[in-house]
Amino acid sequence: MLGPPGVGKGTQAERIASEFGIAHISTGDMFREAVAAGTELGKTAREYMAAGALVPDEIVVGMVEERLGRDDTRKGFLLDGFPRTIAQAEALERLLQTLGRPVTAVVDLRADEELLITRLSGRRVCASCGATYHVQNKPPKQDGVCDVCGGEVRQREDDRPEAIRERLREYAAKTAALTEHYSRLELLESIDASGTPEEVFGLVSEALIRRAGVGTHQVAG
Ligand SMILES: [Zn+2]
Repeated sequence: MLGPPGVGKGTQAERIASEFGIAHISTGDMFREAVAAGTELGKTAREYMAAGALVPDEIVVGMVEERLGRDDTRKGFLLDGFPRTIAQAEALERLLQTLGRPVTAVVDLRADEELLITRLSGRRVCASCGATYHVQNKPPKQDGVCDVCGGEVRQREDDRPEAIRERLREYAAKTAALTEHYSRLELLESIDASGTPEEVFGLVSEALIRRAGVGTHQVAG
């Protein structure tokens, strides 16, 4: 599954995984867990991240391979946050070919830039406990005060409109090659994600059912 910041990718990924009974594989979460648990993988990943470097493809692919060996992926799986580059996409294709479990669809969630900016710039975060709020959808009960811990609720620097524009530009530049790649392979499902989460879920479900039928598909991105 592909999608820019603010498009609701995490929400959709969780819902799809739970309703279709497939595994939600978030490489970002896996790294954070590995780092927190202090595993070998976590230590290696932490060294790269501390040096400001990207974790090499073979490490990420190895981690995905290990993850695909678990039982909860038998009915299918959804990849969230991976692949990010053509090299990763090709490594993934080789791996899935070996496993005999090819990608059946690449869901690309899309929304107008101004809508994404509106959504993201409304986000507020508690400076003490990290609880997240949104000025429209989920404001704290008392303006500027965290419901959970009473800490100060404020806007993060990178949630300001100019910073968001920059993040969206970066995302578009990085993923253009990837969407072209999957479009050539006729795997790409571009979904209009400007509606409510319910509407977007409906569109994604339709696309997946059309592609593969319930419970037998695998989704990469
Ligand atoms: Zn708080």
